[in-house]
Amino acid sequence: MKETAKIFDVILIGGGLAGLCNAIHLSKFGTSVLLLEKNEYPKHKVCGEYISNEVLPYLSFLDIHPFDFGAVKIDQFQLSTRKNKLISAKLPLGGFGISRYQLDFMLAKKAKENGVLLIQDTVVEVDFHKELFHVSTKQKQKFRAKICIGSFGKRSLLDVKMNRNFIQRKAPYLGVKIHVKVDFPEDLVALHNFKGGYCGVSKVENGAINLCYITNYFEFQKYKNITDFQEQVVFQNAFLKEIFSESTPIFEKALTISQISFETKKPVENHIIFCGDSAGMIHPLCGNGMSMAIQSAQIASKLILNFLNGKGMTRDQLEKNYIRQWNRQFKWRLNAGHFIALLFRNDSIAAFLLQVLKRLPFLMPIIIKQTHGKPIDN
Ligand SMILES: Cc1cc2nc3c(=O)[nH]c(=O)nc-3n(C[C@H](O)[C@H](O)[C@H](O)COP(=O)(O)OP(=O)(O)OC[C@H]3O[C@@H](n4cnc5c(N)ncnc54)[C@H](O)[C@@H]3O)c2cc1C
Repeated sequence: MKETAKIFDVILIGGGLAGLCNAIHLSKFGTSVLLLEKNEYPKHKVCGEYISNEVLPYLSFLDIHPFDFGAVKIDQFQLSTRKNKLISAKLPLGGFGISRYQLDFMLAKKAKENGVLLIQDTVVEVDFHKELFHVSTKQKQKFRAKICIGSFGKRSLLDVKMNRNFIQRKAPYLGVKIHVKVDFPEDLVALHNFKGGYCGVSKVENGAINLCYITNYFEFQKYKNITDFQEQVVFQNAFLKEIFSESTPIFEKALTISQISFETKKPVENHIIFCGDSAGMIHPLCGNGMSMAIQSAQIASKLILNFLNGKGMTRDQLEKNYIRQWNRQFKWRLNAGHFIALLFRNDSIAAFLLQVLKRLPFLMPIIIKQTHGKPIDN
């Protein structure tokens, strides 16, 4: 195994939204950054691809302007229950639709322009001793850094290696995504529930419509394949039946991911600062995971810059401050998200809630705000 002599300021493990935003932010201030990402860019990811507008000021600070590369504005919301009851509302803050294929690619391009060293390799081990992180990869490379950020997403073999607590618990959800061509309003994000899951529908760049659903794996397992599951279960929701049957697929086949878990994680473990889904995952029903990943990068980067700039911050203070700020920003959102998802899993409660929301529509923005933050300033 060959070890490079250079000691980086920061090594980032995983180049999704959290890793890439950290890389751009840190490199903007002259920090030496190595980003290790196992996949090539661009690549499609299972994701609803609706992002809350709260990230726009921060993305602009990073010199990323999603509307320049095709993002579409979304400010209307629809929700239907399994029993086809529908409610519509205006989104309090609104958001935009952009594919991860495009967004991650643009972020990676910016990171490289800023001088980030981006290597395609899978991290297999991280050790911390004598105030340095020693990171080993599948291609038998070894790197060292003063700071290590874990931004490797919802579930990785590294979580198993590190014996993180959440990995022992059940991860019973499965995600499916496809891009299609179908007539669908540009400014709308719809969430249609079906037995054991829900499907998000919204537009991304180039006129494509994202259809992305999450379902309980045990429910899914009862059927032969995706087509069978969709016909027997997903299409029980009349809105989904209409959208799916009128659409023409752009992808050759749907993308899937399994073992999605919403278990509580720790934002710092073994001195590694975790960002994005690696630190905690909000239920996708809330459409705020991407914005949380981006905002966690901002929190981590600001603190790390203070630590590296010798402003008298110790490693212990860095870690405690990050945990405190992470909890302040996200803990309430995560709990609210899990509670709302739990309510919508029960048919009678979901139907009752929809009746209440129809009669008292001012409650809808209040509920949405529980799972979202304010625009992120710099
Ligand atoms: C079905 C579904 C629908 C969703 N819909 C929405 C939505 O509409 N809106 C929203 O805001 N959020 C949504 N989310 C959540 C959102 O996708 C995540 O919160 C977001 O992707 C988190 O970004 P991240 O950077 O933490 O992780 P990721 O984007 O997953 O990035 C992690 C990266 O780490 C890399 N990696 C992993 N292990 C290693 C390793 N050992 N070495 C090197 N690299 C590694 C991976 O290849 C990956 O590129 C949805 C999630 C799901 C599952």
